Amino acid sequence: MEHILLSIRLLIYMITKYIYTTFLLLLLSVFATAQEKTCGVENPEDFGLLMNDATALRVQAIKDYSDEWIANQQHRSTPRELITIPVVVHIVYYDDSENYTDLEIEAQIDGLTADFRKLNNIDNIPEEFRDLAVDTEIEFCLANIIDGVPTNGILRTKTPHQSIGTPFNGVNRICYTDEGGSDAINPEEYVNIWVGQMPSLIAGRATMPGQADTALEDGIFVDPDFFGFFCSSSNDFFLGRTLTHEMGHYLNLLHIWGDGGGSDDNCMIDDGISDTPMQEKSYSGRCPSHPQESCGGADMFMNFMDYTDDRCLSMFTFGQKLMMRSVLDEDGARGKLRTSQGCAGMTNSNLTLTPDDITIFPNPASDCIHIDLDIDNDLPVRFQVINSLGQAVYSSNVFAKDLRTFNVSDLSNGVYFIFFENNKQIASKKLIVDK
Ligand SMILES: [Zn+2]
Repeated sequence: MEHILLSIRLLIYMITKYIYTTFLLLLLSVFATAQEKTCGVENPEDFGLLMNDATALRVQAIKDYSDEWIANQQHRSTPRELITIPVVVHIVYYDDSENYTDLEIEAQIDGLTADFRKLNNIDNIPEEFRDLAVDTEIEFCLANIIDGVPTNGILRTKTPHQSIGTPFNGVNRICYTDEGGSDAINPEEYVNIWVGQMPSLIAGRATMPGQADTALEDGIFVDPDFFGFFCSSSNDFFLGRTLTHEMGHYLNLLHIWGDGGGSDDNCMIDDGISDTPMQEKSYSGRCPSHPQESCGGADMFMNFMDYTDDRCLSMFTFGQKLMMRSVLDEDGARGKLRTSQGCAGMTNSNLTLTPDDITIFPNPASDCIHIDLDIDNDLPVRFQVINSLGQAVYSSNVFAKDLRTFNVSDLSNGVYFIFFENNKQIASKKLIVDK
């Protein structure tokens, strides 16, 4: 009976999907610009018939599990365990400019963590949504051990194929070394992130839990033009938030507007999250001012699951946090990521602090810098910026893990020294500000 109901439901979605897709293609051809972002993930209820029955049933079972888990957790307010998820980044580059450096990749993963831990800039979250923005208590590490072998979590492949991220004769070539791509690393215990040229207009996509046809293609795909945390305003997608958005999908979040947009009932199509407002459509290619209203209320266009420009995206809600954590529960669809030993190769308690443990880039810098402290303890770090006259222009106590970015745009041009003090050891680095 359940199966018959599901089939009827899928038939209805097939019809709406046809109408929706026709409209979407029309919309894209009219409004698409080079700076516009779209993503290849759609509401599974909206593209149900693209899935075979087994996949549809699997997705439904995962949804049922999450709904029940969330209902049981909703009122718990105690802090939850911090979950650290190992990631592997496959750089599948056609053009050498797409072959990002280790440091650039580390900055992108740190930016991802900052967004998930609410360590990003949250100034643009309007007052009415402030209380809904949460630290998801999920963070990410580049894998440092795979099959017992130390690694930096980055795999590089020069591909002979342009647009390697576009399926060719039905094959997702980017996922296979033999096809000019890069084979997945154990997708149950690592999040595989492929960076390679995607079809035009697609910034990225991700497989939602249960949706991949094969585990070998389970993961996240990002176009090189939308990858990286670059502290520069040269394009609209410079803060690495395409990855943040796709990681949301990978952990079972839908678009904030629920993927309506082509029919009269846009305000009936929900993202399934109780504390995100009903929203009519996406804010692709925009960074609007608040409030923007639809469906009888203000839209949460600054949610990471919208299409807004990177500098406008700034929050996940409590409801989204619960959804993501439900699939990371030990019996959840992605529960093995939680217990993965993919980052267990870290050296413990490195209590020395030397200039070699500190990386600052870009340097010279004009707006924000990325700071990487190679120390693995949770003692506070004294962080002080001294100008050429020996005056402290900034000082703060922070935890090493939280010290990721620092905005230097308010500093005058010149040479500075940044002092770090941890566990009674002091190290400094020179920084040049050149705006
Ligand atoms: Zn998306």
